[in-house]
Amino acid sequence: MGKLHDQALLKYASYWQGNWQSAARSFNVTNPANGEIIGTVADATAADAKKAVAAADTAQADWAARPAAERAKLLMRWQQLMLEHQDDLGLLLTLEQGKPLAEAKGEIAYGASYLEWFAEEAKRVYGDTIPAKSSDQRIIVLKQPVGVVAAITPWNFPNAMIARKAAAALAAGCTFVVKPAQLTPLSALAMAELADRAGIPAGVFNVVVSTDAKAIGKVLTEDPRVAKFSFTGSTNIGKQLAKQCADTVKRVSLELGGNAPFIVFDDADLDAAIDGLMASKFRNAGQTCVCTNRILVQDRVLDAFTEKLQQAIGKLKLGNGTDDKVDIGPLISDEACDKVDELLQQATENGAKVHCGGKRQAADSLFYLPTLVTGVNNDMALAQQEIFGPVAAIQSFNDEAEAIKLANATEFGLAAYFYSRDIGRIWRAAEGLHYGMVGVNEGMISNPVAPFGGVKQSGYGREGSKYGLADYMDIKYLCLGGLDK
Ligand code: ADP
Repeated sequence: MGKLHDQALLKYASYWQGNWQSAARSFNVTNPANGEIIGTVADATAADAKKAVAAADTAQADWAARPAAERAKLLMRWQQLMLEHQDDLGLLLTLEQGKPLAEAKGEIAYGASYLEWFAEEAKRVYGDTIPAKSSDQRIIVLKQPVGVVAAITPWNFPNAMIARKAAAALAAGCTFVVKPAQLTPLSALAMAELADRAGIPAGVFNVVVSTDAKAIGKVLTEDPRVAKFSFTGSTNIGKQLAKQCADTVKRVSLELGGNAPFIVFDDADLDAAIDGLMASKFRNAGQTCVCTNRILVQDRVLDAFTEKLQQAIGKLKLGNGTDDKVDIGPLISDEACDKVDELLQQATENGAKVHCGGKRQAADSLFYLPTLVTGVNNDMALAQQEIFGPVAAIQSFNDEAEAIKLANATEFGLAAYFYSRDIGRIWRAAEGLHYGMVGVNEGMISNPVAPFGGVKQSGYGREGSKYGLADYMDIKYLCLGGLDK
């Protein structure tokens, strides 16, 4: 693999209690661009996960007791180290995940921005005093860390999905155990190395890497020492994990699948809409949960928009993420490519038309050609399931009411986007869309100051913003009585 400037960022074992932990078995991490093995990692067991939880539990009281300013300093130091090693972390991320290097470095900066934001926010966790009902009482509200947090994260943002959760948890005063996706553990382990260098105390940030997601998941969701469980991943697994959390009544945050509509109204600035769409559709080869999944275009501008989109897609460069000027890397796995094939096949059998792409670059590669398909309808699997690939699927609509109805006709409710310049329409559409996040004339909406999260079966809980911190805090009400003389 390409050489990192700082080879010590390459770690091949789980990390808890401030130590790198060996295991009896190991597994390979491969580069999706060429199948090369880039590392062999110790494969942790359920017993190991319990040890990591024990480490977090032991560290919890001391971490919570530190002044917020002290926790903030350590988080800032961690953030600085991530930025200092942005090139190495970006390269590592591209090698195990496949996204273009520029995007990978962007993800490191994005992940680090959560550490910065929550470090600052940690110092502003204010309680309340509430006017009491009687003169001999005072009512005070304290906010306190929930306790040990466990998290399970996906492969599509190997750094940022962890940073987003860990930053808020640590800022709040919680200790943290994460199981990253087995396809992309190296970025998580590099984060642990930097947490260690930043001086984050042993047991506060722990990483358990394993091929046995189910067994580790069982520990993280069922162990009574874990107070909160935070998951980003597929809806089916999220539902299962939420059920597992029920017996110990854990607090749960779920960031699950999406099915984002991207609506282009006939008064939209079409060029701006194309720019927004290209970012929201093709970033990470279409493998993000806020990715545009359905493009809804008003009849009157359908032909003009389709033509512009085809031109823009024609300019995309597919290739190994470490090569220069690549826009789209490989998909993560064979199954991911097969799924895109199946969705397209079913759509074309039902009348949709593929204008470009529609297949892998070569039969044995994970590079999927950027694809444009029109004549899609909302009943097709292509419009109801997450594509998670570089496929722009266009449907048409006649009027505003139809657009909103189509957009909402899904069990998901994560992100939605629309383009319009009519102020009345903007308000009506923004309020009518049943989604947790809406980009209005904007295709890139995620940043640490804003609450990221969904409604309906896209989950609950928020990451980023003051709401993201609140998710890691308990509210305690104090009633002081007997104050009258
Ligand atoms: P994706 O489609 O992004 O791979 P998954 O929900 O399968 O979505 O994976 C997201 C995370 O959930 C990964 O870390 C994966 O290892 C983990 N995971 C998958 N299945 C389970 C399970 N049964 N229990 C716990 N974690 C799981």
